[in-house]
Amino acid sequence: MKLHMQILIALGLGIKRNWHIFFGIIAGVLVGLFLYSHTSGASGAILNLLNFIGQVFIRLIQMVVIPLVVSAIIIGITSVGDNKQLGKFGAKMIIYYAIITVIAVTIGTAFSLIFKPGSGAAHYISQNAATEVQATVATALQQQQGKILDLFLNFIPNNPIQAFADGNMVSIILFVVLFALALAKVGDVNRPIVSFFESVFAATMKVTDWIMIFAAPGVFALTASAIASFGMDIFLTIGKYVLVLFAGFAVQMFIIYPLFLRCFSKVSATMLFSAIAEAMMVAFGTASSSATLPLTIACCEKRGISHKISSFVLPLGATLNFDGTALQLVVATIFLAQAYHIHLTISLIIAIGVLAIIASSTCAGIPGGGIITISLILNGMGLTPEQLVVGIAFIFAIDRITDMVRTVLNVTSDAVVAATIADNENEINYDLLNNPQSYEEIA
Ligand code: ASP
Repeated sequence: MKLHMQILIALGLGIKRNWHIFFGIIAGVLVGLFLYSHTSGASGAILNLLNFIGQVFIRLIQMVVIPLVVSAIIIGITSVGDNKQLGKFGAKMIIYYAIITVIAVTIGTAFSLIFKPGSGAAHYISQNAATEVQATVATALQQQQGKILDLFLNFIPNNPIQAFADGNMVSIILFVVLFALALAKVGDVNRPIVSFFESVFAATMKVTDWIMIFAAPGVFALTASAIASFGMDIFLTIGKYVLVLFAGFAVQMFIIYPLFLRCFSKVSATMLFSAIAEAMMVAFGTASSSATLPLTIACCEKRGISHKISSFVLPLGATLNFDGTALQLVVATIFLAQAYHIHLTISLIIAIGVLAIIASSTCAGIPGGGIITISLILNGMGLTPEQLVVGIAFIFAIDRITDMVRTVLNVTSDAVVAATIADNENEINYDLLNNPQSYEEIA
């Protein structure tokens, strides 16, 4: 059977198990389209209600992210214990994440250069740049003026408590990883703290199970309000950009991930996709990989990937690995360059790719977290802010919908890397992973 058929069947298996979430997405699209074409007082009120329900779901799930990330990393690192082994699979994890992101950027670049989504688009850009979006973009640009080195410096928290209060994930992870490494080093004296975090982890996973009861209405509401805000027309107006982007996403999802799994492990893409189907659907609905993280961990752990690997590789992936975002960043940047008739030399193309990888890894796993980092690339290209405001406004206008798709990639690639490392380290239960009928329900 052809690979893409197998993958579709796998997704079907996942959907069959979780038809209520899938049904939420489909109903969300239909209701969103209806609301978009019927603007009245009543539909405004419905939209407000949908927004409210969606926000409740996102906030509930985000609520458990920090305790979950902290406890998962502490348990993950201390359970490996042996620093040598940790170094080995830590290094492997970074290499795998790097490979997957470099491939994403290469696909985005190749597709944009071949299909030229931006040729002739300058006309649309000036027409469709909404004032409100321009203001958002201008503010985002002002905040992004810092140099790349300062950006890295800001990751080191001078006050970890402040980092926790601000929800600054990269800083939190940096602190927690160092703390956990130290705990692993000090030996048995770490037991009280580790047991404490084991309890925190177990309880947080239980809360996640409860929140997932709310997944279907939550995903329905989020999808409906996204579609109702933009409608589908916007896709027709800037069809080529969206087509190139979605083609790139499809290649990464249906060709690269399966190939990656085949080259580096014995894991079947079909089974893995089926195992994480709920996480993929929630990623689509929430457009947030950090909000999806509790579910990604639950899917992987309950379906065969060991706790040791899931609890270490997935939280780090959800903070640093954004290959879908990197792919979109290069497509969007080259699109703008083409729209403004900027000559793309080889060195400029390479610089865009490198900056896209850096920019994506600094992004936050929240809705819209990635696209604002495009200013980092554009500044590097020496574009004037005036051009940026008009150009980015155009890309921003449809960002919520493209964000939903790239977030599915961001979450899937985390699971792909976790499964690969679990396979390499003999930390995978194939009897469970390869038998979807035996999967425990998440929600
Ligand atoms: N929403 C994406 C995520 O959470 C980040 C982005 O905006 O690209 O993975």
